[in-house]
Amino acid sequence: MDTEKDPFDIDRVFRLLRQAVAGLPKAAMFALRDAGYASPFEQLVAALISARTRDETTIPVCERLFAMARTPAAMAALDEATLVRLLHGATFPEPKARDILALSRQIAAAGEVPATAEGLTALRGVGPKIAALTLGVGFGIPAISVDIHVHRIVNRWGYVAASTPERTMKALEQTLPPPYWIELNERLVPFGKHICTGERPRCSTCLLLRQCRQVGVTEHR
Ligand code: SF4
Repeated sequence: MDTEKDPFDIDRVFRLLRQAVAGLPKAAMFALRDAGYASPFEQLVAALISARTRDETTIPVCERLFAMARTPAAMAALDEATLVRLLHGATFPEPKARDILALSRQIAAAGEVPATAEGLTALRGVGPKIAALTLGVGFGIPAISVDIHVHRIVNRWGYVAASTPERTMKALEQTLPPPYWIELNERLVPFGKHICTGERPRCSTCLLLRQCRQVGVTEHR
């Protein structure tokens, strides 16, 4: 393992990360945002659909659904069987359809998507990760969404030392400058899928090798 390391500089790490993922497919929420599905409601629904569903599936399922309904009122007007059919391919289509219908009715009645973590997690089926993605990508409000890639990578860097995604999120809130809170997920999802992979990360060609402490990496490419 390389013992020659530079001091960890988060600004430099982000510059290198942007370079590293430049040619890679974007994470689903960001790809949908850039395709025009950027409203808080669309981002909320897309985040819910994306839970435990691959990005390659989430994107076409969301495009199919949003072709039918893009607002809380239009979504709430769909019947459950139609929604389940539109969600075909995503994991857990039945419970997700029920959650989407329930939260669409709640939001249609309230008149707007809540713009706080507390308000969002009060909606049916919405946990902290979905809330953070909606706040960050939908509203542009700094929020850290920690999925399995973010958790693994920032711990490998040695930037935080936390045993669960929830603890990693808390540690990042203390350490990471807010201007990077939304971008973290955008960069680390493709970086984690293609470079800093769960098994045998591609350290020998990784642009971050001199910054990263490679904590817990025993075997790499
Ligand atoms: S691929 Fe290796 S060097 Fe690059 S960030 Fe991951 S663990 Fe660090």
